[in-house]
Amino acid sequence: MANPQAVSQAGRAAGQPQPAHHVHAVLCRKCKSQQVVANKRGYSFANMFKTLAIMILLGILPIVLTGFAFVSSTSDRLYALLQVFSSLGMLSLFLSLPLGIIVGFAGRNDIVNGCMNCGFKWRPAKKK
Ligand SMILES: [Zn+2]
Repeated sequence: MANPQAVSQAGRAAGQPQPAHHVHAVLCRKCKSQQVVANKRGYSFANMFKTLAIMILLGILPIVLTGFAFVSSTSDRLYALLQVFSSLGMLSLFLSLPLGIIVGFAGRNDIVNGCMNCGFKWRPAKKK
């Protein structure tokens, strides 16, 4: 996968006065292989769908409850309250897609180590 951002970052790192021998080999945490590559995590579809599912669930639940209240002719006060929740639910449904997309972008620049030998992936500890 060609990543222009990664390339430019590598170029910047090369320009810094750092001794080449300082680079230490990263070992796989599972199989101790040295064939480890660091990649940006990229867009997280898993996080996006998780957020989408939760928001849709939160949106549908009050609407369904309001529907039940309407059918079972509950007290007017409860029905009015449920209508408020229902409109919040509509808002949640409305926001589920854009919010899910934003959540998917979060942390896309995180570095993830991947082992070429066993396929194990992990997030390296940040040194600061
Ligand atoms: Zn491994």
